[in-house]
Amino acid sequence: MSTNSGHLYDPLSAAAYPLDAPRWRSDSGGLLSLAWNGSWGPDVVKSRTATLWRYREALPLANDANIISMGEGFTPLLATSRQNRKVWIKQEQLFPTGSYKDRGASVLISKAKELGIRQVVQDSSGNAGCAIAAYCARAGIACDIYVPEKTSPAKLAQIRSYGARLVLVPGTREQTALAALEAARNTYYASHCWNPFFLHGTKTFAYEIWEQLGGKAPHALVLPVGNGTLLLGAFIGFTDLLQWGYVDRLPRLIGVQSANCAPLAQAFAREVEAPWPIEKQDTIAEGIAIAEPVRGREILQAVASSGGHFITVSEEEIATVWRELALQGFYVEPTAAAGIAGLDRYLNKTPESEIIVSAFTGHGLKSPTGH
Ligand SMILES: *Cc1c(COP(=O)(O)O)cnc(C)c1O
Repeated sequence: MSTNSGHLYDPLSAAAYPLDAPRWRSDSGGLLSLAWNGSWGPDVVKSRTATLWRYREALPLANDANIISMGEGFTPLLATSRQNRKVWIKQEQLFPTGSYKDRGASVLISKAKELGIRQVVQDSSGNAGCAIAAYCARAGIACDIYVPEKTSPAKLAQIRSYGARLVLVPGTREQTALAALEAARNTYYASHCWNPFFLHGTKTFAYEIWEQLGGKAPHALVLPVGNGTLLLGAFIGFTDLLQWGYVDRLPRLIGVQSANCAPLAQAFAREVEAPWPIEKQDTIAEGIAIAEPVRGREILQAVASSGGHFITVSEEEIATVWRELALQGFYVEPTAAAGIAGLDRYLNKTPESEIIVSAFTGHGLKSPTGH
């Protein structure tokens, strides 16, 4: 049993709720944040198995017996080079389901088990659906996964294989989200966007980087962003490290979007508080083709308060980087290549002395034809 504690709260209405009731939004329908007061000590975690559960005290679960794990996390942080510069790339494509979404799914579905939940609903452009379906399979929880009809066939096959009920929704990613929200009225919404337990799984990305850099934060973290679940997790994790006195500043958070779907980059450039719904065009970076990011306001705030900014990349840049990476032996999905295309642009504008971390967010087998 853990002695740590916390609560859910709505930052807008200030309403607070206990962690032991199934709830994914506030009474006024607002997004919830999660406050958790557990921290870990560097020497203690070092002696533990190299999975994300080594940060157990910081993970919002009461009872160890509810942990649903496949040994996920502590992905390699590989020193490599781009543009003749040394950069660190975290190998997030090496998770059990092939994307970093397993960080969030492991923690969220463990919590669902702790709450005695028997069925969840979720919507995704693919990878979050794969992760939730896999962890539900291990937990013995039934799940309905809503995805846009046009999702990569490999992701659809993967979700089905885990025994999830797959609901294909015609139209846009936003129409899929609406269909899932409707279904979530009567069941638990295991959404990577709405449910804050997910972000308290992805925050382990920051903890691992800190350990792997020898107890340091990088100067910048360059990540592909759609709904911002990796970026917000990184923000929460590095903010923890700052509060615990393990770092003395946050890394600059650099969000990369496809120029064909860049609501956050546009809102940031115009210095507005929240993104507005945009018309998106098709992009091969399907994992970040999000026209209406639910936590848009939070993402803009996180990037601004870290001193970061947004970068947009073209379809040609994404395709070129994708091919280049494969010829170096790195088989990643186009969405992951979008992040690296943004990294290349960032490198052109920054001094050699900067320590820069990026990630391969998803595996190439997710969309084996490339594009
Ligand atoms: C989900 C995903 C992203 C982006 O995550 P967001 O939470 O939408 O910002 C990036 N790359 C891959 C491979 C993904 O699956």
